[in-house]
Amino acid sequence: MTRDLIILGSGPAGCAAALYAARAGFAPLVLEGPQPGGQLTQTTEVENYPGFPAPINGYDLVVAMRRQAERFGAAFEVDEVTAADLAGPIKRLDTLVAGALEARALIIATGASARWLGLPNERALMGHGVSACATCDGAFFRGKEVAVVGGGDVACEDALFLSRLCAKVWLIHRRDALRASKVMAERVLAAPNVVPVWDTVVDDVLDPAARTVTALRLRNVKTGETRELPVSGLFVAIGHTPNTAFLKGALDLDPQGYIVTDGVRTSAPGVFAAGDAMDPFYKQAVIAAGAGAKAALEAERYLLA
Ligand SMILES: Cc1cc2nc3c(=O)[nH]c(=O)nc-3n(C[C@H](O)[C@H](O)[C@H](O)COP(=O)(O)OP(=O)(O)OC[C@H]3O[C@@H](n4cnc5c(N)ncnc54)[C@H](O)[C@@H]3O)c2cc1C
Repeated sequence: MTRDLIILGSGPAGCAAALYAARAGFAPLVLEGPQPGGQLTQTTEVENYPGFPAPINGYDLVVAMRRQAERFGAAFEVDEVTAADLAGPIKRLDTLVAGALEARALIIATGASARWLGLPNERALMGHGVSACATCDGAFFRGKEVAVVGGGDVACEDALFLSRLCAKVWLIHRRDALRASKVMAERVLAAPNVVPVWDTVVDDVLDPAARTVTALRLRNVKTGETRELPVSGLFVAIGHTPNTAFLKGALDLDPQGYIVTDGVRTSAPGVFAAGDAMDPFYKQAVIAAGAGAKAALEAERYLLA
């Protein structure tokens, strides 16, 4: 059976695409992938999604998005795409559960995964002081001391953003110079409340028993000296990996693996992309949802042409 439209991913981009496509009568099938609901299921409070004056739990927010799309006939299935043939008018997918699926149009909203440090207590404290998104979670640390780990442009941007909210920002980097662009590095090092901590790695984050971040265990890579740094938050800013490995050779990807788009159109006709999988810059739920809606409108136009 060849469907009209299959959507890969059930984060904000996939759910918004499903809502628009379902309301347009295309009965889309949404494949949920390895993380049903996407990245928002990893967080506790979301304060910046329009329409919710009080904080909303990230999981509850995506469940509501999914229910809204289901109401109009979108079907969600737990399945993951492992390979794709997108060249012809019929798009063919290999998947873990169904095996093989076909559609006339496809929306890829497979998101991106934040890179983490792999610390023993990191996972236990995610959403409880450990974050990979300063824009999302910085406001929870107003007036407090936090640490940012990383040495690139994203780490500098995060440190600068946090410096406007927090009392002090420790910028921890394993080398003795930032690898960010010169202008960003100069700007961050000029901020009076950003303190660089050179040649240093984080060995662990404390305190899982308190269910909140209280300190970091640091190690100087040159001297081997260890110490504890009291902080209320840890922002990991070492990049993201787009979930697009299965698209290699099937679509144009940039050197980091992000899907190359013109608007939401990809290099294959009938294949559209939305959200963090095609967005190296913004990585916000509202922007992913907006792109998902655009992708559905473009898919509708394509299917009716
Ligand atoms: C801890 C944390 C807190 C955050 N807090 C906020 C916040 O407060 N406000 C905000 O605006 N943003 C926040 N974000 C960012 C926000 O979650 C993302 O920008 C948004 O979820 C991106 O939506 P998306 O739909 O593009 O991708 P995702 O949410 O990443 O969803 C991707 C989907 O694709 C699926 N998938 C992956 N691979 C495959 C495959 N091969 N086949 C089929 N499906 C696949 C996944 O299972 C998942 O369902 C946060 C992110 C994190 C990690």
